[in-house]
Amino acid sequence: MTRWILHLDMDAFFASVEQLDNPQLAGKPVIVGGLGPRGVVATASYEARTFGVHSAMPMAKARRLCPHGVFLAPRFERYQQLSARIHSLVSQYSPLVEPVSLDEVFVDLTGTERLHGPPEQVAREIHSRIPEEVGLPCSVGLAPNKLLAKLASNAAKPGGLRVIRPEEVAGFLTPLPVEALWGIGPKTARKLASRGIYTVGDLQGVEASLLVSWFGPKLGEHLWRLARGLDDSPVVPLREAKSLSQELTLPEDVYRLEEIQAHLRGLTRQVWGRLRQAGLLARVVRVKLRWSDFSTHTRQLKLPEPTDHLGLLLEAARQLLARLLATREGRGVRLLGVGLAGLTPASFRPLHLFAPEEIDQLVWGAQAKYGPGALQLGEQGPHPPESPLPKRLQPSTKGEENHTGPAPN
Ligand SMILES: [Mg+2]
Repeated sequence: MTRWILHLDMDAFFASVEQLDNPQLAGKPVIVGGLGPRGVVATASYEARTFGVHSAMPMAKARRLCPHGVFLAPRFERYQQLSARIHSLVSQYSPLVEPVSLDEVFVDLTGTERLHGPPEQVAREIHSRIPEEVGLPCSVGLAPNKLLAKLASNAAKPGGLRVIRPEEVAGFLTPLPVEALWGIGPKTARKLASRGIYTVGDLQGVEASLLVSWFGPKLGEHLWRLARGLDDSPVVPLREAKSLSQELTLPEDVYRLEEIQAHLRGLTRQVWGRLRQAGLLARVVRVKLRWSDFSTHTRQLKLPEPTDHLGLLLEAARQLLARLLATREGRGVRLLGVGLAGLTPASFRPLHLFAPEEIDQLVWGAQAKYGPGALQLGEQGPHPPESPLPKRLQPSTKGEENHTGPAPN
């Protein structure tokens, strides 16, 4: 049976939400991100993109390119709220819904035809219902797997709907540049280009054995499959997720510490938004960093208790970044990622999450760094005298990855 996977991607999500909530901003260049001198752009509206502004750009540069733009700080709680509405709308069509980020979701429509009609019709319905009912523009891709569905929604941007039927896969893929494929980063693309391979069509013409001799068995076989649009990865609902992560490939290497930290905070807030939305707590925080020489390192830290406390996650991520940056040696940052693992349902929230001294210290630290609104304590009452002694955030002793070799992308 043909699988049918839908990929829904909201267009310029944070900026579109700001335009929705303040109609005076409609049609204007809206730029959402850190407003401080070291801030970075999280999302730019399509009006702002015509000035050359794009996400992950230093805010100072965005202001130079688009001096008449409307510059706003992100409101993650609001984005999370609308993301949850989008999630519940698409959940009407399938139990298999996987949010990839606050503004992107995969829906497995395989075998839902009897209940909801043909997948193409469902795709059209979702594509029109999101703007009608949520008030936000979106792009939709429908294809036989996740790889192709994401490529389809990308091709449909902004505001479009693109279906790739099984018989259309080859024709769709052939003209694309190899970089369009998941997992082909600049390094692999350069290696391919040095052998005269620029498009997916070129890549299809290379024997599997040759790819394996160039890239090793794992990446070689992966590239062979990618070139043919083969991907059998499942759509995994958030409640079954083993981990949540958010990554950002920077358009250019970033050297300034403040800018690296700003990206890290943005990523942490986004992954926290998904954690909260899923009703989960995380015990393990990971930070992944790829240097300008493409070596990739991951550090992780185990928290004393599972948590969904933003301030704690920000502090843990900050500590991990500091450890990674200790090995910097003048290199720039190419990619940053924040991951949460050791996930448990929030209903199992431990009674005494942290010792009071520890909370105070964290609140103080977070507020000093991120402003007075950074951390808000819930309805926690006074702690009993037998509260455990404050534990420091301990780096976990096991499972620490340290890839020193070059990464495939
Ligand atoms: Mg989007």
